[in-house]
Amino acid sequence: MSAAAQDLQLTVGSMTHTGGRENNEDSILVETLPPITPGSGPGYLLAVADGMGGYEGGEIASKLAIDLVRDLFARDQPADIALALKQAYRRANDAIYSQGAGTADAPPMGTTLVTAVVRGKYVTIANVGDSRAYLMRANQLTQVTQDHSLVAEQVQQGQISEDQARKSRQRNVLTQALGTKETLDKRMPSIYELALLPEDRLLLCTDGFFDVLTHDDYLQLMSGDDPSEAAAQLTSLAVKRRTTDNVSAIVLAVGASLTTVQRQQISAELAEQRGNAMGAMLIPALVLIVVIIAIVAGIYFYM
Ligand code: CA
Repeated sequence: MSAAAQDLQLTVGSMTHTGGRENNEDSILVETLPPITPGSGPGYLLAVADGMGGYEGGEIASKLAIDLVRDLFARDQPADIALALKQAYRRANDAIYSQGAGTADAPPMGTTLVTAVVRGKYVTIANVGDSRAYLMRANQLTQVTQDHSLVAEQVQQGQISEDQARKSRQRNVLTQALGTKETLDKRMPSIYELALLPEDRLLLCTDGFFDVLTHDDYLQLMSGDDPSEAAAQLTSLAVKRRTTDNVSAIVLAVGASLTTVQRQQISAELAEQRGNAMGAMLIPALVLIVVIIAIVAGIYFYM
């Protein structure tokens, strides 16, 4: 099989919506990256950030984080993506913190940031905060990233259940964010690596969905071939169910494998042939019926 035939077919769709708020403090990023080898498909740089802070601080913080990630990958194509992402997150933290420190009377500003760098089938994800990356594979949804939140820590330590975490009043309390402290915790960002398979879906999203959508909703709305439609349907369902927060989603869809496409084509051709064969059999059958009617009519007429 040639290198081109092995390439996954990737498409991306995205949507951000004010949801249940007046302003949108979320920012999103969808950029194509140059092909790794000439002739192969493009890569993607995807990110969602959920800002917080008064006096438009949230909007400024999430936009700053997104701009820094974009600029870093626009300048060069780093060989070590995880290292480049760590540097970008550190720079974003410093930029947001110093901007926030300049407005001493305003509440502190900060942002979450989840980023996915897709090169061919390989994905590197970096995360700080409680925006999430999900992988949908074989009709199963897996949360790739771990939230940096108080309730996520409590669940991990066995103090509360997942269900209690979802209902907790403290569910929005973050343990890590960009821009809220002078230096970013040296364990941050959390890095995850995965390899995509045909028909996978990768979702990056902010927490405005968590209270109003179930795992089945994500699976159902992302199973189609059009990621733009999936992102639009996810946000519109969250709005319909009266989310009180902003909602942002980026969906990456991996096309079916070549063998699956070939199998579908063969089944379609076979179905068509069967249809033609039925048609071919129908004509002699109709002729036979007409002849029988004619004979019966003839016998009746001459009797
Ligand atoms: Ca939010």
